[in-house]
Amino acid sequence: MIGTQHGTHVAHALPDAEQIQWRTSRFGAYEREREQAWTCTCRRIQYTLIHAGGVAFIRKVEDEKSVWDSPPTRLPEGEGLWTRLVMGEAR
Ligand SMILES: [Zn+2]
Repeated sequence: MIGTQHGTHVAHALPDAEQIQWRTSRFGAYEREREQAWTCTCRRIQYTLIHAGGVAFIRKVEDEKSVWDSPPTRLPEGEGLWTRLVMGEAR
C-alpha cells in the first residue's frame, strides 16, 4: 500500500508497541527533504516517511502547531520503523 495515491492506513497500535521518541519537528533543518511514503489524509494524524541528507525519519502531524519528528536514523532503519508504525508495532 505504500506509495498509493490515497496513502497507507496505519493499524491500531498494539498494547506493547514500541514508543517512538517524538521530538518537536526541526522542519527545514535538512536540505532536500524527500517524502518516501505517507499515510492517508482521512485520519486525524498523518505520518510521512522522509529521507534527507542520508538519514530517515518519520514526521507526525497532528495539526499545524503539533508537528513531530522521530529521531533520525540510517535509511534501512527508517524503513523498518515505518513498517512497524504501519503495522501498529510502533507508535
Ligand atoms: Zn483513508
